[in-house]
Amino acid sequence: MSVRVVLLGPPGVGKGTQGRRLAAQHRWSLISTGEILRDAVARKTLLGLEARKRMDSGLLVPDDVMIGLVRDRSAEDDSAAGFVLDGFPRTVPQANALDSMLQARGQRPDAAVGFDAPAEELVRRLSARRECPVCKRTYNLVTAPPQNNQECDDHPGTVLTQREDDKEETVRKRLQVYREQTSPLLDYYRGQGRLRMVPATGPVDDVYHSLSRALGC
Ligand code: AMP
Repeated sequence: MSVRVVLLGPPGVGKGTQGRRLAAQHRWSLISTGEILRDAVARKTLLGLEARKRMDSGLLVPDDVMIGLVRDRSAEDDSAAGFVLDGFPRTVPQANALDSMLQARGQRPDAAVGFDAPAEELVRRLSARRECPVCKRTYNLVTAPPQNNQECDDHPGTVLTQREDDKEETVRKRLQVYREQTSPLLDYYRGQGRLRMVPATGPVDDVYHSLSRALGC
């Protein structure tokens, strides 16, 4: 079965963690636009140089850049069996563009999952979030710390890092951008009858269970 799933929700709600697990379990590809951009920033490519300032200030990268990026990535072979979109679409024009690009391939987004959690919880989670610079696995220093101090469990000796945009002031900006530009997408997908809401508070395993149930897989 080939399935295309869109994950929606504010920063810190767990889209990345849940998306990674969902994609791995079903052998779908995971398309994380934030991860693609952070990789481009690290490699100092043209895209990275263009995107960095906006990312560091918690703002969105222009729609045309993001749409081109997802159009290319979703057409790659590993996405043929299905994909999970983490972080895209983030605006109504991006959602329209996704519908058009999939329609041109005789496809459509099968489901949009809306994760939700209280704002103060998100700020708390993001300030304790760390990631492995090698494998991108994320940890939470309070609720899901690594076994050995601040090193990745899968890459001993590699010290976890904090994302530049996880500093508190930037987090608040990102939450505002989410409310203003991205949350209208909940209505967009609700109107199409494709939205499934999943509460994202509580243990990661419980949220994953709710996600699987919401998707019927
Ligand atoms: P994320 O890892 O999804 O939180 O994304 C990190 C940052 O990358 C965001 O705050 C934006 O600056 C940028 N970004 C990621 N995805 C998109 C998108 N679909 N549209 C615009 N900007 C994006």
